[in-house]
Amino acid sequence: MYMDLTELARETGFEHATILRVDTLTPLNEVREMCAAGKCLLYGRRWSCPPACGSIKSCAEKIAGYRTGVLVQSVGQLEDVFDAEGIRQTEETHKRRFDTLARQVRLVCPGCLPLTAGGCTRCAVCTYPKRPCRFPQKMLSSMEAYGLLVSDVCLKNGLAYYYGEGTIAFTSCILTN
Ligand code: SF4
Repeated sequence: MYMDLTELARETGFEHATILRVDTLTPLNEVREMCAAGKCLLYGRRWSCPPACGSIKSCAEKIAGYRTGVLVQSVGQLEDVFDAEGIRQTEETHKRRFDTLARQVRLVCPGCLPLTAGGCTRCAVCTYPKRPCRFPQKMLSSMEAYGLLVSDVCLKNGLAYYYGEGTIAFTSCILTN
């Protein structure tokens, strides 16, 4: 079944959506090293995140198996640079929208690869590493977990990464065939 992913993304509420060219996606060890630095506190703590989500080589091989995709963004307005609540709300909105979009695309294309912003936060406490993931069909890895430099991906696909003073943007993508 044909699905216009950019149209569907806009209907889901994303401020920006564009076709994603798979040849612009290059998983980098440097990005993986940023994950390993542990800034987001999810490295080695979620099935969705490194090292559980696979080596950079295996992520690159997986990505290479897709033909196309969609890149989506939520952009929020901030009162000032210290507006942590505005950032949190925009992130929450983005994750909710992306959950909805990924669920719809997975119905039509079960083998698609949704890559979100930040790690999988579906369960308050992840089962990693003691037991298998509770929701493997709903788990979401991040673009960073797959070694993707999000600013570079945006640039190469004609989307801005930063929308100016007083804004915050979150970016995610879905790869499909
Ligand atoms: S769905 Fe739950 S168990 Fe699976 S990776 Fe996400 S948080 Fe962990």
